Amino acid sequence: ASKDGGRGRWTAYHPQMDEERETRNQLALDLRSAIENDEITVVYQPVVDSATFELVSIEALARWNRRGHGPVSPEIFIPIAETSGLIDRLGLSVLSQSLTQLTSWPGLKLSVNISPGQFRDPAFTGHVADLFRRTGIEPHRVVLEMTETYFIQNAERARTVLERLRKIGVQIALDDFGAGFSSVGYLRQFGFDRMKIDKSLVQSLGQGHKAIEMLQATVALARSLDVPVTAEGVETDQQAVNLRLAGCDQLQGYLFGRPCSAADIDALRLRPMELRAKAAAIAFGHP
Ligand code: C2E
Ligand code: MG
Ligand code: MG
Ligand code: MG
Repeated sequence: ASKDGGRGRWTAYHPQMDEERETRNQLALDLRSAIENDEITVVYQPVVDSATFELVSIEALARWNRRGHGPVSPEIFIPIAETSGLIDRLGLSVLSQSLTQLTSWPGLKLSVNISPGQFRDPAFTGHVADLFRRTGIEPHRVVLEMTETYFIQNAERARTVLERLRKIGVQIALDDFGAGFSSVGYLRQFGFDRMKIDKSLVQSLGQGHKAIEMLQATVALARSLDVPVTAEGVETDQQAVNLRLAGCDQLQGYLFGRPCSAADIDALRLRPMELRAKAAAIAFGHP
């Protein structure tokens, strides 16, 4: 540590900071070229009806297989894309790939995650409208998922963009609900079409008697605003039962399927009996 100009403040110097910055810079450079070379791909995770386990929707999730390194988690590369000015292109690529894919899945809805940075681009809503025109997808089949940070920090602007997106006809979901600090007041004023219960809340089930009450209260809050609720991160039968009883109309998680290729979704659509058999088994309490 070194004394900062005698003003009594200490700044710590850690050699690993340089290393981390270097790694980040390299990641950002590689990410840029991956986007330019169309190497960002999309995987699809099933979302099912909580009563019938019928496949009702699909969430598109970005994937990056970094050359010479292997897969990088979106928890890592999405924030890098956001701070490196790459999120607009990356986000549009995911939207474009998944909307094109949706044309071969009639009857299903599609969720796509949107970063605040994309909302900031004044051309964003125009690009979205263009994609609908080009693919012929009806906008009401598409749900854009956003986390609460943006709505809380940019309430004014967020309302304007939401209004424009509503005019296009696309739906808006609040992602990761229950993971942060959303207040009822904020939730009300945006009129979300859907809320997604964060997987941390879902997976706390079974860890103490308060967890189920927290979860029930969170779902009840959304439902008191007349907003339907999807639970994500559902991994066990017990979680599925509790979430359904709590009032979630849709469930998503490894129990029903991991994020997978479009071809795997095609296969799932051809054999819906498997999901229904699972629903029946859970309803009759085994295993
Ligand atoms: P998210 O939107 O909340 O997506 C759900 C995450 O939970 C996904 O992680 C999914 O693979 C994971 N998940 C689903 N079911 C289960 C389960 O049963 N157990 C567990 N442990 N995990 C489950 P993933 O794909 O790693 O994505 C992480 C986050 O990265 C996403 O969270 C989203 O915030 C962001 N992200 C992914 N793709 C995009 C994208 O195209 N654009 C933007 N802006 N963000 C994206
Ligand atoms: Mg999401
Ligand atoms: Mg989420
Ligand atoms: Mg998340």
